[in-house]
Amino acid sequence: MHSKVVIIGSGPAGLTAALYAARANLEPLVIRGLQPGGLIATTSEVENYPGFVEAIGGFELADNMEKQAARFGARYMDALVEKVDLSQRPFRLLTDGGEEVTAETLIISTGASPRKLGVPGEEKLANRGVSYCATCDGFFFRGKKVVVVGGGNSALDESLFLTRYVSELTIVHRRDALRADPILQERIFANPKVNFVWDSVVEEILGDDKVTGVRVRNVKSGETSVIATDGVFPYIGHIPNTWLFKGQLELDANGYIIADHRTRTQIPGVFAAGDVVDHVYRQAITAAGEGCKAAMEAVWFLGEQEHAAKKAAESVAALA
Ligand code: NAP
Repeated sequence: MHSKVVIIGSGPAGLTAALYAARANLEPLVIRGLQPGGLIATTSEVENYPGFVEAIGGFELADNMEKQAARFGARYMDALVEKVDLSQRPFRLLTDGGEEVTAETLIISTGASPRKLGVPGEEKLANRGVSYCATCDGFFFRGKKVVVVGGGNSALDESLFLTRYVSELTIVHRRDALRADPILQERIFANPKVNFVWDSVVEEILGDDKVTGVRVRNVKSGETSVIATDGVFPYIGHIPNTWLFKGQLELDANGYIIADHRTRTQIPGVFAAGDVVDHVYRQAITAAGEGCKAAMEAVWFLGEQEHAAKKAAESVAALA
């Protein structure tokens, strides 16, 4: 399969790039990846995407973006890219289904994944009480107790969502102050279902075939204690999904792709947008803005290539 514009990843960056490339009649191919719609699709409610007076569900927002781009000719492939060769154009991609895709330009919008706690019990009890998606799994914790780890916007947003279902929610945070925006802090402190365990980290998730508790350590006193719980939701930040590009693209010390303010990587024709480059803002709206830039850059890049090819052909014809 060959496409003038291939987009890896289908969050707000990828889908906005798809919209702009499709409106330029380039029929972009979006390879959706592991998490169609990206992280925003796992977010319960989005209140800060411009244009929506009331909150919109994250899944609905991503679904709308996908349909909007499809209306102008964007194509979608449900696959995971397992290998890329960026050494020459067209770039070559190999999917988990064994399909080879070639691309004249590539827009990388593979986003970032939830950071794991990396403690004993986390892997064993994944989907048995350990979840990274309150929107997906909150319903299963009706009337139960849960622990949320972290003090950022994600931890608080998703905690507020979980309080619709759970009987009690404990936020375990490694400091004694939250990082989240004041508006979320106000709401969380006013919620009677929520209590806090400050200055503490989770050391182990307990349970045999389902979560029964977490062992936490107070980082100031060193004391450990056990909190009985039915579920654990870690929201402690993200790591960029860039393993595919190691050795081919410049990455920073934290693994984010290095791109300039026009989304250009060091390889002409390869652009990067959204959480895969951005460890500062990480908003759906900033990702969408970068996706727009990346698509416009791809359109201009292809135009320049066509112009150069035409000039070269004219020179050859003049010599003949
Ligand atoms: P974040 O802002 O990086 O917060 C991560 C939280 O986890 C911090 O409180 C941090 O503690 C804690 N943490 C990090 N590593 C830890 C570890 N190993 N053990 C225990 N705790 C750890 O990440 P986020 O909340 O996922 O948000 C990501 C971005 O998305 C942010 O820019 C955020 O503003 C944005 N976002 C916005 C909204 C919204 O606007 N409504 C909603 C969700 C996300 P410290 O505070 O001590 O560093």
